[in-house]
Amino acid sequence: MHNDSSLIDNKNTKSIDPALQGQVFATDIIKSASKSKRFYIESYGCAMNFSDSEIVASILDKEDYSPTKQIEEADLILINTCSIREKAEETVRKRLFIYNKAKRNRPGTIIGVLGCMAERLKSKFLEEEKLVDIVLGPDSYRDLPVLIKNASAGERGINVLLSREETYADISPIRLDSNGVSGFISIMRGCDNMCSFCVVPFTRGRERSRDPYTILAEAKEMQEQGFKEITLLGQNVDSYKWQHPESKEQISFSDLLIMVAKVDPQVRVRFSTSHPKDITDDVLYAIRDYHNICNYIHLPIQSGSSRILELMNRTYTREWYISKIDRINEIIPNCTVSCDIITGFCTETEEDHLETLSILEYCNYIFSYMYYYSERPGTLAARKYADDIPLETKKRRLQEIVDRQGELSYNSNQRDIGSTFEVLIEGNSKRDDQEFKGRSSQYKMVVFPKKEGYKVGDYAQVKISSATRGTLRGQII
Ligand code: SF4
Repeated sequence: MHNDSSLIDNKNTKSIDPALQGQVFATDIIKSASKSKRFYIESYGCAMNFSDSEIVASILDKEDYSPTKQIEEADLILINTCSIREKAEETVRKRLFIYNKAKRNRPGTIIGVLGCMAERLKSKFLEEEKLVDIVLGPDSYRDLPVLIKNASAGERGINVLLSREETYADISPIRLDSNGVSGFISIMRGCDNMCSFCVVPFTRGRERSRDPYTILAEAKEMQEQGFKEITLLGQNVDSYKWQHPESKEQISFSDLLIMVAKVDPQVRVRFSTSHPKDITDDVLYAIRDYHNICNYIHLPIQSGSSRILELMNRTYTREWYISKIDRINEIIPNCTVSCDIITGFCTETEEDHLETLSILEYCNYIFSYMYYYSERPGTLAARKYADDIPLETKKRRLQEIVDRQGELSYNSNQRDIGSTFEVLIEGNSKRDDQEFKGRSSQYKMVVFPKKEGYKVGDYAQVKISSATRGTLRGQII
């Protein structure tokens, strides 16, 4: 999972749904009546951070806190931060300025910084941000109650220890601002890859896979709560592997996918994020053989040039990646793929750039997360390579990639006109509450008029009549 944070606001640049950015959560208002304290939380970055905020909400629930959307009524203000790009950190600084104002208006309010930026900056955060009371890294959320108690007594606190065991497997997340249809389950934490541009191994530590039976229990709980779609989360889900300490039973990612798919054939299963070097045929067979494992894979490539991939330490070549795309098309013909691209990496030439443009064509992605390289302190690339591509060149190359991807997304959607897709109704369309929106198994957004007898959480067979770059439109048949 990578760099979901930096937004480039053009139609075909996707990141975590912009509407989700800085999401404040207050789902459990009903429960809040019994709670004496309120917390306000904003989350930034990748889905792992959003999932972690649900773990934090569960820990706070036991400390008599409930969520609020009103910052001015919060006793505790938290920001779950991302550190993947400079821009993400700038956003955090701007938000802290707002929180400081709220604190001045309401003395005694506690401000806490969570997530990857907290882990990257550690105590420097307390030195630089005088009004921050708590700094907690991604593996230290169990310590929140103690640090809140200390902060209430005027003692600022920090815990940024990374763990080799922590998976929060015993904590049942409180779903924040969920549509009640789709939800995340984090299946592992950390990353053992050392992509030279990435801070994640330094901010989230070594890889560890969660006990599959706790994942299964959480999936059953979600199914009982009426969820119709579960996304299994990890920095690199394909390297998920778990061994029972006594029986030595081994569970691979494809095993886990099938275990979760068997919970209820009416509950869809998705996963994010895959790594080209680790994705196996067994995962592809599981997608082929189980209707409710969705026909969509997010498979970051980062660059189309093998020379740049080597400098990025991605541990695969352009040819290896293409062989994976060929395998996907062979085993699951109507499977769609999306990717991550970083352009303007150190020493990137026009030839390298053209290789990235041509790989877009070959792979025919339905969309991509696209960024220009942002040097991150402490990473291998920052230590070894000069960030030598001029910003203007980075921006020009990025725009060319965005434009090419836009054409591909448009053509892919145009080819769907006349076809019928099974769509999971997620809610009302943004533009017209007489219309539903939802996604096909291929992760395409579909908008269509409401029809008697259909509600959020139902599946509908939708025949596509028109399409834009980002959306398919049709009618229930
Ligand atoms: S190190 Fe590589 S695989 Fe791991 S999170 Fe970063 S970009 Fe993804």
